[in-house]
Amino acid sequence: MTARILEPSQANLDYCQELLQKGQLVALPTETVYGLAGHALDGQAVTAIYASKHRPTFDPLIVHVAVALDQPRLPQLRHLIDLEQLSLPALRRAEALLQAFWPGPLTLVLPRQPQVPELTSGGLSTLAVRMPAHPVALALLRQSGMPLAAPSANRFGRISPTCAADVLAELGDQIPVILDGGPCAVGVESTVLRVSVDGDLTLLRFGAIGRAQLAAIAGYPVQLVSSPTMASPGMLASHYAPTKPLTLLDRPVDSVDLPTLQRLGLPPVTQRIGVLLQSGDAATVQALLSQRTGLEVQAISLSANGDAATIAQHLFAGLRALDASAAQWLLAEPCNGAQGLEHAIADRLKRASTRA
Ligand code: AMP
Ligand code: MG
Repeated sequence: MTARILEPSQANLDYCQELLQKGQLVALPTETVYGLAGHALDGQAVTAIYASKHRPTFDPLIVHVAVALDQPRLPQLRHLIDLEQLSLPALRRAEALLQAFWPGPLTLVLPRQPQVPELTSGGLSTLAVRMPAHPVALALLRQSGMPLAAPSANRFGRISPTCAADVLAELGDQIPVILDGGPCAVGVESTVLRVSVDGDLTLLRFGAIGRAQLAAIAGYPVQLVSSPTMASPGMLASHYAPTKPLTLLDRPVDSVDLPTLQRLGLPPVTQRIGVLLQSGDAATVQALLSQRTGLEVQAISLSANGDAATIAQHLFAGLRALDASAAQWLLAEPCNGAQGLEHAIADRLKRASTRA
């Protein structure tokens, strides 16, 4: 099978809906990254998602929904979420968060309705739900009325795709159709927040919506987990990883010379290195660094001026481009800053540079 990349016309949306109704999978754009979507209540479709991604079945999926925006949002999830289990503070906080951030890059983890296949949530008694903000994803969710399980459309552990061509490279041999919605506006996966039955809030994954923003809307502090792997099984130390070794610098690349690279483990035979810059002009850094190290340098800059939203948009495509280049060894500049999105970028770079 080779996937076809389709424009999101009404006829193609209808075709995707037909495929989904038959238990098949389609890749679709969201504002965070591209997702591999299947009917969340259809065990066969959910099984196919894990198999296509080579994803271990303990790693739970996020279920995508479209709710009516002019009504309270939580009650519209009662076919997925067991609202009876939630205390009043939990209900209030979850509703406030959904009102503030949906549609958008916030996933809430709440008690799962027993009718939702256990496999969808990796065997957990909770379920992760999100309403994406991309018009194509919303159109398909609205017209089909199906809840769609849609993890990132990449093979497990690899870099998430942020355009249709990257999905084709990852899963083109596994699925029939990729809906093309252009490059993703956010570029990193959603913030994941657990709301416990008594209303405690725990941040499970950094994303575009930061901890302070969540706490302000909920009117309640947001905790961090000491062991994300335990609290949220998919949060492995190594993830979003290129196939080539990637080293995360602790300073901007301007101050790097050959001895520094050797201390960082540059293999002696290396002739070409790749560098992912947070900001600035790639050509200037390329010239400077190759002069200083005697190596061939391929640099990619993620932004002109260090703006976090721009860096996040280009992050995964930049990692992919370096991975596909002739460079043998990759370096990335660190992302500093305390905004929510800067935490998310730093988190992705850390995981991408950790070997499995
Ligand atoms: P992805 O769909 O690839 O963006 O990843 C989804 C991630 O969300 C998983 O790897 C988990 O870390 C997290 N997640 C999803 N469902 C749950 C859940 N029920 N409890 C805790 N974490 C979850
Ligand atoms: Mg993923």
